[in-house]
Amino acid sequence: MTTKPRYDEIEKFREALDSCTKCGFCMAGCPVYREEKVENSVARGKIMLIRSMLDGDLDVTDGMAEQLNRCTLCMTCAQNCPAGTNVPTVITAARAEKTKRQGVPFPYNVIYRWLLPRRRLFGWAVRIASWVQGIFLPKTEGTIRHLSMFLAALGKGRHIPQIAPKFLRESVPVVNKPKGGKTKLTVGYFTGCMTDFVFPELGTKIINFLTKNGIEVIVPRGQGCCGAPVFLGAGDFKTGRKMADANVKAFKDLDYIITDCATCASAMKDYTKFLADTDERKKQYENFGKKIKDITEFLVDVAKLPASAYQTAKEFKGKTVTWHEPCHLGRYLGVKEQPRKILKALKDIKFVEMPDADRCCGMAGTFSIYFYDLSQKIAAKKAASIKSTGADVVVTDCPGCQIQLIDTLKRLKSRVQVRHIMELLD
Ligand code: SF4
Ligand code: SF4
Repeated sequence: MTTKPRYDEIEKFREALDSCTKCGFCMAGCPVYREEKVENSVARGKIMLIRSMLDGDLDVTDGMAEQLNRCTLCMTCAQNCPAGTNVPTVITAARAEKTKRQGVPFPYNVIYRWLLPRRRLFGWAVRIASWVQGIFLPKTEGTIRHLSMFLAALGKGRHIPQIAPKFLRESVPVVNKPKGGKTKLTVGYFTGCMTDFVFPELGTKIINFLTKNGIEVIVPRGQGCCGAPVFLGAGDFKTGRKMADANVKAFKDLDYIITDCATCASAMKDYTKFLADTDERKKQYENFGKKIKDITEFLVDVAKLPASAYQTAKEFKGKTVTWHEPCHLGRYLGVKEQPRKILKALKDIKFVEMPDADRCCGMAGTFSIYFYDLSQKIAAKKAASIKSTGADVVVTDCPGCQIQLIDTLKRLKSRVQVRHIMELLD
């Protein structure tokens, strides 16, 4: 007699799974369903697949894993669901079941298990990648290089920003004191991989802005990757736990932890939901999660800076600017008004809302590597929204979205600049 396989990670969210009434309201907003128009793409179809696993009718096959991966975890389905079914949570748990049984495929297993949790080693790997990038890849425009040759299989000609010659952690001290006057607040800065390795000038700008406004900024060297690609993307909870523990330890003495990346912020808040396997870890992760603030949320709700603190950097004066709201910022963290308050406070720009500002851009980490063509179709809709505003600049609050929008707009030969919202500030 064969025994039914156990799916403990999914069982934790059984209530969410069972709450689906099959009404189909999730179809309208799902970015993947909009492109593919098949039931397996949408939340309802994914729930049916996962239920079949639990009922023992299906095991986790490669085809099934692919369907689970065909999801940007954008949360639009959960937002539109009358039953309150949180499908991205169940999908993440199902990815973990697959990884428990089959492991993470090469080369991602090497990257996730060996490189990402070891910041120094990862830094070296990134540096070597940047040398390769510099030697082999033709320069396109500004800091953008065009992926080609042997990397074409990975990126299909994707435009990616150049890896910085000097990482953020090599450019700034651990302790950054306010410039004159007394310290009003102290924050820990979770820099994330993108800001550290690709956009260090953004990190420097954030530190300068905060210290200018009386806020001391600590950049702990023990911090690593937030773990999003590892535990949310690949379902590798075991490695994710190690990364979470390292970050909790690095920031243990700080009351606030700020990030400039909405994905990092929401992933770190999700440590409790997915990775807390003991009471001790649960307590630590909950405490850690409460301290995390997106940078715009921190400036508006905690530091409560007056509108006059926000001055436009010279480069952007007179420009028309629009705002792309990352899924992880608006739907996961509920941070919607704060960035808009900052944009409205900037007197020297014209801020124009784009239609569907909160629609997913299709990045979603490894989703855009596995399913690049699909990701680009989703991004093309976002590009059309951006273009309809006539903006010179689109700003966002997630370096991952930035990379996706840079690639898409370059591909469509658009001259719209893509920047982080904090780059607008003087
Ligand atoms: S909207 Fe919610 S309840 Fe309706 S089918 Fe989709 S997931 Fe199920
Ligand atoms: S999270 Fe987004 S992509 Fe995934 S099923 Fe829900 S709406 Fe579709």
